[in-house]
Amino acid sequence: MADYDLAIIGGGLNGVSIARDAAGRGLRVILLEQGDLGAGASSASPRLIHGDLANLERRHFLRVRSALAERDVWLRIAPHLVRAMRFAIPAHSDERPAWQLRSWLLLYDRLASRSGLPASATVDVTHHPVGNALKRPFGTAFEYSDCVVDDSRLVILTAVDAAARGAVIRTGARCTRAERGKEWRLVTKDRGFRQIVTARAVANATGAWTPSVAETVLRVPPPKVAAVQMDQIVVRRLFDSDNVYVFQNSDGRLIFASPYERDFTLIGTASHAFKGDPAIVAMAAGDVAYLCDAANRYFRERIETVDVVRTLSGANMVRNPAGRLSPRDGAITLDYGRGKAPLITVFGGDVTTSRLRAERAVTKLAPFYPMSARWTANAPLPGGDFAWDRFDNEVDEVRERWRFLGEDQARRLFAAYGSDAKAILGDARERGDLGPSFGPELTGAEVRHLMSKEWARFPDDILWRRTKLGLTMPPADREALGAFMAEFMATSCAGAK
Ligand SMILES: Cc1cc2nc3c(=O)[nH]c(=O)nc-3n(C[C@H](O)[C@H](O)[C@H](O)COP(=O)(O)OP(=O)(O)OC[C@H]3O[C@@H](n4cnc5c(N)ncnc54)[C@H](O)[C@@H]3O)c2cc1C
Repeated sequence: MADYDLAIIGGGLNGVSIARDAAGRGLRVILLEQGDLGAGASSASPRLIHGDLANLERRHFLRVRSALAERDVWLRIAPHLVRAMRFAIPAHSDERPAWQLRSWLLLYDRLASRSGLPASATVDVTHHPVGNALKRPFGTAFEYSDCVVDDSRLVILTAVDAAARGAVIRTGARCTRAERGKEWRLVTKDRGFRQIVTARAVANATGAWTPSVAETVLRVPPPKVAAVQMDQIVVRRLFDSDNVYVFQNSDGRLIFASPYERDFTLIGTASHAFKGDPAIVAMAAGDVAYLCDAANRYFRERIETVDVVRTLSGANMVRNPAGRLSPRDGAITLDYGRGKAPLITVFGGDVTTSRLRAERAVTKLAPFYPMSARWTANAPLPGGDFAWDRFDNEVDEVRERWRFLGEDQARRLFAAYGSDAKAILGDARERGDLGPSFGPELTGAEVRHLMSKEWARFPDDILWRRTKLGLTMPPADREALGAFMAEFMATSCAGAK
C-alpha cells in the first residue's frame, strides 16, 4: 500500500490549501516544499481579499460575486489575519468618470449583499481625513469596503492546520524525480538526504515551477502556460489614515497603496512577462520607478526610488499567454488513465479564491477515494476562533492578561497568532520571562514557537515570512537571532536523539 493518498509538491498557498482540505477530508497527505513555506509568489501577493474592481470593469460579475462570498468566508475563518478596511479611490475626469466609478461601487455593494461591511460612499476629500495625504486637485473620492490579509502568515497557518489534521509537512524537501504507475513513487532530497515517498495521487502545486516540474520531475507534457511577474515596493509610511488608496494610473491600471506593518506603505502592483529561474525574481529599476511615479501622481509626500526599503516580487503561471485570462485566474487539471495514478496540476489564481480552488482540486479526487464532504468554509484557521469585529476587544483582553505588553506588540502578536498567542506568552509576568529580545519586538519564546510549531529554520523564515520584523530589526539583533536559532536547533536535535 502507498505511504500516502496524496503527495503535494509545492508549499505555496495553493499547495498548503490543498493539504489542509485533503487532510480534513480524511486523506493521508504529505506536502513537499523545497525551501520554506510561502517563499515563492505566495509572500509577494498584493495582500488583497477582494472581489476585484478590475473584474467588475471586465464585466465578470459572477466571478466578482463568488470572490466577495469568499471574502466573507475569510473574515469568518481567519479574523486575525484578514482585516476589513475602507478603500478610497480618488475621482478625476481624465480616467474613468466619477459616475462610472460610483455605479461600479453600487454594483459592488449589491454583489456583496451578504457582507456585514459598510457600503460604499462618496467623500469630499477637502474635508475628510482621506484627503490629508492627497495632492490638492482631488475634490471627490469614493470609499468602499474590502479586506487585506497577511499573505505569508495565511500560508503558514493553513499548513499548521493541515498538520493538526494529520498532514505531514516537509520543508527543505525537493522532489527531484517521480515514477508513475498505479501509484506514484517520488524521490526527494530532504534536507540533503535521499528519501522515497509513495502516494496514490500527486498534486503539482509548484507555481512558476509548474512546467519544469511537469517536464523534468513528473515527466508528463507541461501545461501550456506563460509566466508572469508581479512586483510591489515598500516605503516608509506615506499616510496616517487607516485606508487603502486605489489609484487609477495613466495607463489604466489600478495601483494600490496600503498600510504595511504599522510604519510602512506597500505600493503595487507592476506586472509583466517573466523569463528565467523562478527562484530569482528581481524587480527591475524601471518597475520601481513606475510605482514611485504612480504614487507621486496622488500623494503629497514625494517618493524617489532611493526611498524604497524593500521590493516584493513573485512569479506565477497564467493559463493563456495571449492574455485573455488574468494572472488571477487559477487553473486546475486532472490527468489519469489505466495504470496511470492521478495527477492534479494547480497553478496561479489569487489569494481570495485559494480556499475554493483547493476545495475544487481535492474534490476532483473524489472518484478515486472515499472522502468526507467539503468542510473548509466553516472551520477557523488556528487562532481564528473569534468574530472578526471583536478583534480590538480581543487585543484588549491580551493586554489585560499580559500587562507588560505595549499596545503595538499585543496587536502584532494577536494579528499573527490570534487566540494562539497564549501559546507564546504562557504564564509570563514580565517581558524577561519571554527570553532574550531580538530588536524591540521579537522574543526567544516567539522564536522557539516558530521553530517548533511553524517550521522556521533560518532567520529569514522568521524575519520575512512568519513576521515582517526584518523591516526594522538592526543587524546586530539579526546576528544574535541567527545564533539563538542555531543553538535551539542543535539542542532540539540532541533532545530528539
Ligand atoms: C503576476 C501575478 C499577479 C497576481 N495577482 C494577484 C492578485 O491580484 N491578488 C492575489 O490575491 N493574488 C495574486 N497573485 C497570486 C499569488 O501571488 C500567488 O500566485 C498565489 O499565492 C499562489 O501561489 P502558488 O502556491 O501557486 O505558488 P508559489 O507561492 O510560488 O509556491 C510554489 C512553491 O513550489 C515550490 N517548489 C517548486 N518546485 C519544487 C520541487 N521540485 N519540490 C518541492 N517544492 C517545489 C517552490 O519552492 C514554491 O514555494 C498574482 C500572482 C502573479 C504571478
